[in-house]
Amino acid sequence: MHELSLAEHIVELVQAAAQREGFSAVRVLRLQAGALSGVEVQALRFALEAVAPRTCLHGARIEIDEPPGQAWCPACAQTVTIDSRIDPCPQCGGFGLRVTGGTELRVAELIVADAPGPAAPDASPTSTPASSSSASVSDETSPPSGRV
Ligand SMILES: [Zn+2]
Repeated sequence: MHELSLAEHIVELVQAAAQREGFSAVRVLRLQAGALSGVEVQALRFALEAVAPRTCLHGARIEIDEPPGQAWCPACAQTVTIDSRIDPCPQCGGFGLRVTGGTELRVAELIVADAPGPAAPDASPTSTPASSSSASVSDETSPPSGRV
């Protein structure tokens, strides 16, 4: 779908953070692309790797978490895990679920190299939550999972 423009948007966010916070290189970029976000993780990774060399993401490790889809079932009065927005409740088979998580595409973590010098393994990386980049509901209570 539109992974290239998503990648460009993410790069813009990172570049803006780089200007604001004065770093020039990123070591690790960790994203969350929820199972219900409609994002093709492989395509997004490919697109990011395509645009990265022109940016401060050059040489960065790109990690993409895929939080599972979550929804609230009024009948069960609990949060259930779903694979698709049109899934029924896996507990009671009922519809009428309200999606509560797994739709997000956001920057979860940005670890920057603040010392531009030659190979400095001890330059303590700073972690920036970058929460301002969240583009979706923030009703997330479960830890990211689905790492492979
Ligand atoms: Zn249910």
